[in-house]
Amino acid sequence: MRSHLLNDTTAERYRRTVTEGVERVAAHLAATERPFTGIAVDALAPRIDRIDLDRPLHDTAAVLDELEEVYLRDAVHFHHPRYLAHLNCPVVIPAVLGEAVLTAINSSLDTWDQSAGGTLIERKLIDWTAARIGLGPAADGVFTSGGTQSNLQALLLAREEAKTDDLASLRVFASEVSHFSVQKSAKLLGLGPDAVVTLPVDHDKRLHTVALARELERCRRDGLVPMAVVATAGTTDFGSIDPLPEIADLCARYGTWMHVDAAYGCGLLASLKYRDRIDGIEHADSVTVDYHKSFFQPVSSSAVLVRDAATLRHATYHAEYLNPRRTVHERIPNQVDKSLQTTRRFDALKLWMTLRVMGADGIGQLFDEVCDLAAQGWELLAADPRFDVVVAPSLSTLVFRYVPAAVTDPAGIDRANLHARKALFASGDAVVAGTKVGGRHYLKFTLLNPETTTGDIAAVLDLIAGHAEQYLGESLDRAS
Ligand SMILES: *Cc1c(COP(=O)(O)O)cnc(C)c1O
Repeated sequence: MRSHLLNDTTAERYRRTVTEGVERVAAHLAATERPFTGIAVDALAPRIDRIDLDRPLHDTAAVLDELEEVYLRDAVHFHHPRYLAHLNCPVVIPAVLGEAVLTAINSSLDTWDQSAGGTLIERKLIDWTAARIGLGPAADGVFTSGGTQSNLQALLLAREEAKTDDLASLRVFASEVSHFSVQKSAKLLGLGPDAVVTLPVDHDKRLHTVALARELERCRRDGLVPMAVVATAGTTDFGSIDPLPEIADLCARYGTWMHVDAAYGCGLLASLKYRDRIDGIEHADSVTVDYHKSFFQPVSSSAVLVRDAATLRHATYHAEYLNPRRTVHERIPNQVDKSLQTTRRFDALKLWMTLRVMGADGIGQLFDEVCDLAAQGWELLAADPRFDVVVAPSLSTLVFRYVPAAVTDPAGIDRANLHARKALFASGDAVVAGTKVGGRHYLKFTLLNPETTTGDIAAVLDLIAGHAEQYLGESLDRAS
C-alpha cells in the first residue's frame, strides 16, 4: 500500500496516474455535447448505491471507468456555452494547473511552518487585491472557502468593532436582495432575530439609500447600535450594484462599518471597461471577493479584505501547539491568526498562476465579454414580445419570464415558466436558473462563459418558449 503514498520513490507513479486521469478528463471534455445529460436522481442513485466501498478495485483504470458511470458522464458542465444557470464560471487552465500543484504539495496555509512560500504568495495576492480595491496602506485580509465565510468573518469583525456586549441592540442593514449568508451570519454571531434590517430596492434592484438613511436614523433614535451596512456589489439574482458612494457617506455619518459583498462584482476589479461601476468600493471597511465566481477560478477561491489590518485581531487565537503568542514578536507570518479556518488550502496559488500566465487584463477582458454579452441578451429580450425582462444588466445576469399574450392568469404563467425550466434541465439542452420577483416565478441567465454567443441565448429562449407553449397547450387540453 505504500506505493500509493506520494513521495520521492513514487514520483513516476504519480506522473502516470495523474496523467491517466487528465487524459480521461480531456477526452471527456472534448466529447461533451450538452451541459447536462438530463439524468434524474432516481436513475443515477442506484449506480452509486451499487458500489461497495469495502471492495476496492485496486486498479486506477478500472476506477476511472467506474467514475465515468457514477460521475463524469452525467456531471453538470459549467464550461458548456449553454450552461447559463448559477454563478459558476468556466475555469482557466493556469488555475487548474495551480490546483494540481497545490494538492500535490499539500501546503497548509495556517502557519509559516506548514507552508513557507505559500504564505508569502497568499499575502502578496491579498495586497494586490486590496490595492485594486483601493483600501489604502493599512489593508489586509485572508483567503477563505467562499463568500459565505468571507461575509461571516467581515460581520464578526464589525460586531467586535461595535464594542458592545448587548448583542440584542445590534443592527445590520442590507437590501432585500442581499445574499442570505448575511442572515445566516447574524444568527451564527448571536445577534437577535430582528438584527438584520432588510431594506427595499429601487427599480434597478439597488439598495434604496433614502430608506437606509431613514432606518439608520431610527436605529439611533431607538438607542440601538448600527453595527454594519452590507452593500452588495453584484447581487446574486440581478447583478445589481448598490450605490456605494452614497452608502459610504451614510456609514461615515453614523459611524457604521461598511461591508461590501462583491462576491460577484469583484470581476470588475480587473475590468478594462467597467471598473467605474464599483467606484466607492474603496470606502469599505471590509470586502468579500469570490475569485471562483468572476475571476474564472475553480472552487474554492475567495477572500475577505479589510481596510485596517488591526481589525483582523478579532479572529486571532493563540494556541501553544500552533501559533504561540511569541511568534508574533518573532515576526513569523502565521495566517491562522487572521482566519476562521485552521488547516487551510493554498487556493491562492490558482490565482497566482492565472495572473502570472494571463495577467489581470486577461481576466478582465473575459469578464468584460460576458458583461457585453448580457447587454446584447437584454436587447434581445427587451425586443421579444414573448418575454418580460426585469432589469438592464450591471454585470452579466438576465432575469426574465415567458409571458404569452393569450394567457392572463398569473398562476398559469408561473407554472409555464417553472415547467420550462424543469423540462429544459431534463432535456439537457441548456441549464437555466430561476428566482422569484414580486412573488412571481422568473427565469435567470447568469452569463459567465465568454464562449456563449447571442445565438446561444436566442436558441435557449426559443427552447424555453417551446417548452412553455407545449405545457400551456397540454394544460388547456386537460381543462377541456
Ligand atoms: C455567491 C454569493 C455569496 C456566497 O458565496 P459562496 O462562495 O457561494 O459561499 C455571497 N454573496 C453574494 C452576493 C453571492 O453572489
